[in-house]
Amino acid sequence: MKVIGLLGGMSWESTAIYYRIINEQIHKKLGGLHSGRIVVVSLDFAEVEELQRRGDWEAASEILIDGAKRLAAAGADCILICTNTMHKVASEIAAAVPIPLIHIADATADTLLERRITKVGLLGTRFTMEEDFYKSRLRSRGFEVAIPDELDRGLVHSIIYTELCQGLVQLTSREQFQRIIRKLEVEGCEGVILGCTEIGMLIGENDSALPIFDTTRIHAEAGVEFALKVQSHSVST
Ligand code: GLU
Repeated sequence: MKVIGLLGGMSWESTAIYYRIINEQIHKKLGGLHSGRIVVVSLDFAEVEELQRRGDWEAASEILIDGAKRLAAAGADCILICTNTMHKVASEIAAAVPIPLIHIADATADTLLERRITKVGLLGTRFTMEEDFYKSRLRSRGFEVAIPDELDRGLVHSIIYTELCQGLVQLTSREQFQRIIRKLEVEGCEGVILGCTEIGMLIGENDSALPIFDTTRIHAEAGVEFALKVQSHSVST
C-alpha cells in the first residue's frame, strides 16, 4: 500500500474527515485490521486565510510548498491538498515536489462523468466559485458550471469561514444552502458540487434537492484508489 500525504489544516475540521474516510475505505477494501498509511502536515489556517484575504497567493503558495516538501520527505507517495480553494496554487505545489498531486477537481470530474452529469452547480469559497482555476478545470472536461448569484455567493463564503471552518454547524445555514441548491436545480443543474471541504458537515444527500458531489469524500477516495493501485487518469503533475 502506498503512503497518502495529506496537506491539511485548511481547515483541520475537514482534514479530520479525510483521515476518517481514508481509514474507513481502506478497512472496507482490505478488511481485518487494515488502515491507511498516511502522513499529515497540518498548517495553521489563520496564517493561510489572512494571505488569501490579502490576495497574497504567492506567500500562501510558499507555505503550502514547504508543507508539501515535508510530506515528500516524510515518505508520502502522493499529495492531497485538503482544500478546494488552495488548488489555486496546485500547479506551483506539484512542480515543487517529486511525487504526484491528486487534483481535487480532476477527481470530481471523474465522478461527474461516471454519473453522466452535464450541468453542475458549484458551491465553495468566493475564490473557488468566482475565479477560473477550478471552473476551467471542470469545463475542460466538458461540464457546464453554474454558481449562485452575488448575494448567495457572499452568504456561502461567509458561512464557510465564520461557521464551518470553526466547527459550527447551524440549522439556519443548512436551510440557506438548501434554498440555494433549489435555485441551482431550477437553473437546470443535475447535481451540485460541494466544492469546499467543509460543506459536507452541513449538507448530506438527504438535505439536498440535487444529487451532491462532496469533494472531500471524492478526493479522499481518489487517494485510497491511488494507494491501492496507481490510477494515472486522476493524477496531475
Ligand atoms: N476548505 C475550504 C475549501 O475547500 C475552504 C478553506 C480554504 O480557504 O482553504 O475551499
